Formats: sequence, structure tokens, C-alpha cells
Amino acid sequence: MSEGIRQTKLSGEQGRLVYYDVMSQKVTGRVKDKARAFVQKGLVSKSSKYEYSVLPIKGYNKTTYTISTRGDYSCNCQFYVKTGRYCSHCLAVMLYEKIYG
Ligand SMILES: [Zn+2]
Repeated sequence: MSEGIRQTKLSGEQGRLVYYDVMSQKVTGRVKDKARAFVQKGLVSKSSKYEYSVLPIKGYNKTTYTISTRGDYSCNCQFYVKTGRYCSHCLAVMLYEKIYG
């Protein structure tokens, strides 16, 4: 899939609906914005049947995180490990699956 198609799919009303449908019950504010940025920048990729990789956003940090979708969504980042709540990476994967899955 080309970069152009990805951008088109995410922009406009359709992208916004998908975004709210997935996220509305879980978190608010900046975590959602960050999750959306991961997908928009093409940083989310599926690495195996139950596993995704999320590359870092330039300027934030340099860590690539691994998200497991087996059972529930889980991530190896500090936020998820500490709080057990869905982090921006989990949300990015949910959004990604909703759009491309
Ligand atoms: Zn995470």
C-alpha cells in the first residue's frame, strides 16, 4: 500500500469516525492524539499474528515498542507496565486494525 493511500484513508470524516469509535471509552486527550500520530506517520506495523511494532515518533524517544494482541492488548512501555492501562501504542494498534485489519 502506498503512502498516499494511507494518508487519504486517515484524513477527513471517515478517519475521524474510526478514531472516535475506537478510542472514546478508554482514554482522553494527548494519549489519543499520540496514538493517532503513530498511525498517520506509518509507524505501526504487524510483526506476527499477535504482535505489532510501533516505531518511535521523531523527537520523542528512540525506543521501538512491541504490542501483543493475544487475549487483551498489552505493551512493553513504561506507561503500560506501571499503570496497566492502554497506552498510546495499544491505541495505535487498535486504530490500525480498525482501518487496515
Ligand atoms: Zn505502550
